[in-house]
Amino acid sequence: MTQPTHAPLLPNFMAGRWQTGSGEGTPLYDPVLGSELARVSSAGIDLAAGFAFARDQGGAALRALSYGQRAALLNAIVAVLQTHRDAYYEIATANSGTVAKDSAVDIDGAIFTLGYYAKQGQALGEARLLLDGPRIRMAKDPAFQTQHIQVPTQGVALFINAFNFPSWGLWEKAAPALLAGVPVIIKPATATAWLTQRMVKDVVDAGILPAGALSVICGSSAGLMDQLKPFDVVSFTGSAETGKIIRSHRAVTEMSVRCNIEADSLNSALLAPHATPESEAFKLLVSEVVREMTVKSGQKCTAIRRIFVPRAVYQAAAEAIAAKLSKISVGNPRNETVRMGALVSQEQKASVLAGLAQLKSEASVLFDGNNQALVDAEATSACVAPVLLGTENPLNAKILHAVEVFGPVSTLMPYDSIEEAYAMIRLGEGSLVCSVYSEDPAFTAQASIELASSHGRVHAISPDVAALHSGHGNVMPMSLHGGPGRAGGGEELGGLRALHFYHRRSAVQGSSLALDLLAAQAATLTF
Ligand code: NAP
Repeated sequence: MTQPTHAPLLPNFMAGRWQTGSGEGTPLYDPVLGSELARVSSAGIDLAAGFAFARDQGGAALRALSYGQRAALLNAIVAVLQTHRDAYYEIATANSGTVAKDSAVDIDGAIFTLGYYAKQGQALGEARLLLDGPRIRMAKDPAFQTQHIQVPTQGVALFINAFNFPSWGLWEKAAPALLAGVPVIIKPATATAWLTQRMVKDVVDAGILPAGALSVICGSSAGLMDQLKPFDVVSFTGSAETGKIIRSHRAVTEMSVRCNIEADSLNSALLAPHATPESEAFKLLVSEVVREMTVKSGQKCTAIRRIFVPRAVYQAAAEAIAAKLSKISVGNPRNETVRMGALVSQEQKASVLAGLAQLKSEASVLFDGNNQALVDAEATSACVAPVLLGTENPLNAKILHAVEVFGPVSTLMPYDSIEEAYAMIRLGEGSLVCSVYSEDPAFTAQASIELASSHGRVHAISPDVAALHSGHGNVMPMSLHGGPGRAGGGEELGGLRALHFYHRRSAVQGSSLALDLLAAQAATLTF
């Protein structure tokens, strides 16, 4: 008998059973060693049956529970994931090429988010629907009133995710969906699908969730969007290009399937106008820029891509950032001296190098870590060291404000007036996050108001929160994640606000007697 010449196919979990796709599948690689780790295939899987099973069985079983009972399920998921945490770190090292600290952002970030929603959900207790605002009289006689309510949508939540957060990307969406009572079908990005598949496998094996509540389909996305029906929702994270395809699918344009898009983003950091190189604000900006360029090798949708500083400190900022970047060792994440691992794949390396070449047509190189040798890794691996670019004429730049290089690359830009800085930040056409560094609370408050309309989050940092703040790029479950314009126009997280996406709002107009009984089964969301 001939032995298979490739790694085994990861089975998909659809319609309540494990099913292996047909054909040879698509290989997943170790981005540092180049070895093949596993394969994925969705070919031949009956998608219609899988979606129907999730919708009918998973949805009904979840909706039969209260918010408090579903919150308990989230806690049980946390316990399972914690049990297998070491295995997840091994998969992340092998398949994402990340050092342990970076794997933690994905793995422990997911566990934290699930735990957060479990706690929030517990507070909703035995309720089965949500009251949306107070009752409003509709006639002189108070007997006839309107009450807006929110109830779980009776469909599935399809998640199509990006490669950079195979763990957190699943659970930051699944936590509010499951809490809301909506079954989840996750399609991870192929390059790093292994960790997502393994986590779903562990949760399924533990037998915590009702049948049909959680499904995973790895490999090609072909046909997934075609399965969606009017009460389903789709949440996509990935490139603006694929986002466009999702948004223009007939499920969205003709059936009004609710669609959330988290796409790419040219996030900024802004140093206050009067900051000097000796100031705390300057030092805080420099540290955060270096952290953002290097955590997960810059493969974070929230990473700082553009750095705006007063012209007087441009040179000093370039030197301070370069000095810190020169200490970052890059290479094999298994070597304990390595601070930054690889990009996730050869495709991403090619994409980052091509993007860098584009940016260089408008900027010069202020620091290039690629002049130093990699640690324990070949030059042919998917490792790319940090590169700091700069231009003294950012107002004339186009590419620098438009091209997101999804790697350890950022561009320093001077400004001559704060109005000019705001205008350049807005050239990003809507971003996920902007961080502001200042010692003047009045400036911070004003800058936050200026920047809020073009950003999902403003991370406003001053010396008094230096040791407390959660980081420019860290997405915390209590704060909104998403951004207007090219960032996709989506909204995720933000505490219990996340439940809205998985609920339908309806105005019930009726007698106060009926509304009293309805309210007895409801919880009121307070933010
Ligand atoms: P991508 O190429 O757009 O892929 C994203 C997902 O879409 C993958 O699961 C992919 O599957 C799937 N897909 C590809 N073509 C599709 C189609 N025609 N129909 C349905 N699904 C399809 O993005 P990526 O390269 O994985 O991710 C990097 C990008 O994501 C960056 O631009 C980054 O800024 C953005 N991102 C944004 C956020 C955020 O929260 N805003 C977070 C993380 C990343 P395959 O992998 O099988 O092709």
